[in-house]
Amino acid sequence: MNIILFGPPGAGKGTQAKYLVKKLNGFQISTGDILRDEINKDTDIGKKIVNNMNDGRFVDDEIVNNLLKKYIFDPSKRQKLIFDGYPRSLSQAKNLDILLKSSNQKIDLILFLNVNKETILKRIQKRKILEKRLDDDLNIIIKRYDTYIETTKPVLDYYSKNSNFHEIDGSTEIDKITSKIEGFLNV
Ligand code: AMP
Repeated sequence: MNIILFGPPGAGKGTQAKYLVKKLNGFQISTGDILRDEINKDTDIGKKIVNNMNDGRFVDDEIVNNLLKKYIFDPSKRQKLIFDGYPRSLSQAKNLDILLKSSNQKIDLILFLNVNKETILKRIQKRKILEKRLDDDLNIIIKRYDTYIETTKPVLDYYSKNSNFHEIDGSTEIDKITSKIEGFLNV
């Protein structure tokens, strides 16, 4: 199954992606992790994106779209993709459609973890202590949340008409969210 986990930063996409990877023997595609890896390895792309990432701004669609290709066309990951943090803009959503079509794949489930701003701010401040991410600073979190709302609203409108789109209350406990997700898997 190919699954998109959609929702604001701190919604729990990463946590649920890890559950889905185990459950479905899938592959997590976290564009945030892929981009952080470029920065840690100090690649040319890493040098280009570091300021955007640290300031809580999105990285250019073209860069993210290009980095994603090799995962989608990897035969070992076929129909086992768990997208965490992608697509985040309408252009990315359309790009994903094209890539999946040309690799004869489809999206089976789109799960929207909906969480309000107040809860997100509390959660990310906790994560800052645990993971020490530079972009988990309070002002930057607010910017990331606002950017998310602005840029991803069209993505939400794009997907919400699909019959495989489901909205889940992401503000409850992890286990409750997981069992809701389990209900949509049919496996
Ligand atoms: P995340 O780990 O998903 O919270 O992403 C951390 C940061 O990586 C975001 O604030 C963006 O700067 C960048 N990023 C991650 N995924 C994307 C994406 N799909 N498009 C653009 N920027 C992204």
